[in-house]
Amino acid sequence: MMLKQQSVDDHVARFKDEAAAIIEMGFTATKMKVGLGARDDIRLCEAVAEGSGEADFMVDANHCYATPDAFYVGRALEELGAYWFEEPVAPEDLDGYRELRAGLRVNISGGEAEFNRWGWRQILENRGLDIAQPEVCAVGGVSEYLRVLALCHAHFTPVINHVWGSAIAVATNLQLLAAMPALPGGLNPWEPLLEFDTTDNKFRDDLLTEPLNIQGQVKAQSGYVTIPDAPGIGVTPNPDFIAHYELSL
Ligand SMILES: [Mg+2]
Repeated sequence: MMLKQQSVDDHVARFKDEAAAIIEMGFTATKMKVGLGARDDIRLCEAVAEGSGEADFMVDANHCYATPDAFYVGRALEELGAYWFEEPVAPEDLDGYRELRAGLRVNISGGEAEFNRWGWRQILENRGLDIAQPEVCAVGGVSEYLRVLALCHAHFTPVINHVWGSAIAVATNLQLLAAMPALPGGLNPWEPLLEFDTTDNKFRDDLLTEPLNIQGQVKAQSGYVTIPDAPGIGVTPNPDFIAHYELSL
């Protein structure tokens, strides 16, 4: 039995409008998720590219494709001028990453699903990434993240941290980005980019005694965010919020 699904036609205008709204908020780029099937995904990517205008847009597949479909979508992303194509294939498919990076003009990114320096060594030696995206909350905390960052830079692979989750994760990443060495260097070094999820998330918006208010800062400072300068990672969790979600086991 076939379940009746909403047509992708119903989403095209909404995706375009959402991308335009994010740029209007002051963000310097948009990122979208795909995974409805290659043909439908390309139509939605076209909508987001249009809505993003002159700003960068990125596409995250969360490894939903096998290599042939990743090439099919990746070639469309080349034409659309996407900045990066994230996790096009399974993290374990190192051959696929290498083939895609060699065969596509769009930047191939990934790494959020790798959990320690030894896995990262394999990824980097495989030469399958243009942009490395370590996730500090998954890779073993700040100490292991710093080892992975050094390893990425030792392989001349730029790093844009994967950031998703609670306000603690965002605050930690702000500190890491503030301390990240420039790679590549040059007269106008590449400025660190903060990835910021704009979907509803109480653990991001309500966890701290003083919210980070990233969206407000981005709007007020034309795409920039201020690094908190209080001790530690610069933020204080709200004990009442934590108590509300506490489980007694
Ligand atoms: Mg991702």
